Amino acid sequence: MTGIRSGDPKRPRWPFRGLPARVLAVLVLVELTAVVLVVTDLARLPWDRDTGLLALGALGLAALGAVHTELATGIERVRRRVAHVSYFDLSTVWTFAAALLLPPGVAGLVVVAVYGHLWWRVWRPAGAQLYRHAYTTATVVLAAMAASVLVPSESLTAAAGVGGGSRVVGYLSLLLAMAVYGLVNQLLVATALALSSPHRPDWRRLVGDWDDHVLEGATLCLAVLAALAVQRQVLLVLLVLPPLLVLHRAVLIRQLEERANTDAKTNLLTAVAWRGRAHRALARARRQRGAVAVLILDLDHFKAVNDGYGHLAGDEVLSAVAGTLKAQVREVDPVGRFGGEEFVVLLAGLPVGPEGRELAHNAAERIRRTVRSLAVHVDGPGGGITICDLSVSVGVAVTGGDGESLDELLQVADHALYAAKRAGRDQVRTGRDGSVPGR
Ligand code: GH3
Ligand code: MG
Ligand code: MG
Repeated sequence: MTGIRSGDPKRPRWPFRGLPARVLAVLVLVELTAVVLVVTDLARLPWDRDTGLLALGALGLAALGAVHTELATGIERVRRRVAHVSYFDLSTVWTFAAALLLPPGVAGLVVVAVYGHLWWRVWRPAGAQLYRHAYTTATVVLAAMAASVLVPSESLTAAAGVGGGSRVVGYLSLLLAMAVYGLVNQLLVATALALSSPHRPDWRRLVGDWDDHVLEGATLCLAVLAALAVQRQVLLVLLVLPPLLVLHRAVLIRQLEERANTDAKTNLLTAVAWRGRAHRALARARRQRGAVAVLILDLDHFKAVNDGYGHLAGDEVLSAVAGTLKAQVREVDPVGRFGGEEFVVLLAGLPVGPEGRELAHNAAERIRRTVRSLAVHVDGPGGGITICDLSVSVGVAVTGGDGESLDELLQVADHALYAAKRAGRDQVRTGRDGSVPGR
């Protein structure tokens, strides 16, 4: 299930103090709603033998969740260190099974138990913030309750072909439950993240990528199997644990891979990862008979920033420039850190000929102007400092006139970059002759 995590526990993106009022309002509203709904639903249950059985079922699922967490604590801790904003939690197997088997309020209690244990064993030792975990827990409680209300436990028996009811209706209601569970959680998490971001929210990141959704689908499927096992032959539920742990490892490998491709200081692609993405974009452009442009950017007199304000301030500037670069291009345009204070961008999907050349040059000009207007605040004693007057020189090369292979384009862009430096810095030069297209 999706939750909110900070990539680096030492630098929480979302500290509790200083949380914007609108975020605080959403947190309180969602958590209160979850508590009120669980308590109200539990109060409706009679104190009889059936309720006793339900309590036993809830206890069993919470215990399985705890066993799962214990078996996977090592993997979880590594995942936590490498996770970015979107973070999928495999405890869905137990919490969604609870939603399918138990009344809404009792399913909510199972979620609280599983997430309470997760907090105790994985997140608290890692110094994570309790209020975030509480919010994640509340979103999962609401997701489980919504699924439980919409899909009565008879659907599971109908889908399994035992008891009364149509099998097809059973299948469809299970699918509905999966969709509702995933959507409620995802929406609540994305809303809180979007509201807390001081910048324009990156929707693709908030929604999570394709792999995340495949993983979510896989845990939901395992949850259905776990619920069926609990209902028909309870010991068989133990068979869910081995595939779940293998899934855990697969997720860890994907996250490590993503981390290895990301430059830690700037969150951009590493030079190697950028080359891979750029090669693929170039091959795609060839197939589609389009053009691409390569931009190499080098911050002007960056040594003076380090000498004047210190290396940590220099790092903040690098990170701010990287953020600006990403914000100025589309998601499909790979942006990498080439080394030191040099960045590289590939602009994909350009039209062939002078028009593409002009578009690339204009994009580079836009980036140059944005860097020029950057004001980077660096915390420090006495309120910190704000670094302005930054500038960048940019060399641009476009397929067609400047070369066809990535290495040729990089060479021409590098040459153009040095022409921009020689001409006084803070400017864009395009192509072999460094001309300005359209003029
Ligand atoms: P020019 O306009 O000619 O590009 O001048 P410059 O000062 O930017 O270029 P130079 O190559 O002389 O210096 C680059 C500086 O970038 C030197 C190095 O200390 C700094 N640098 C490289 N990587 C990092 C980093 O990760 N963090 C910080 N803070 N500085 C870095
Ligand atoms: Mg340099
Ligand atoms: Mg430089």
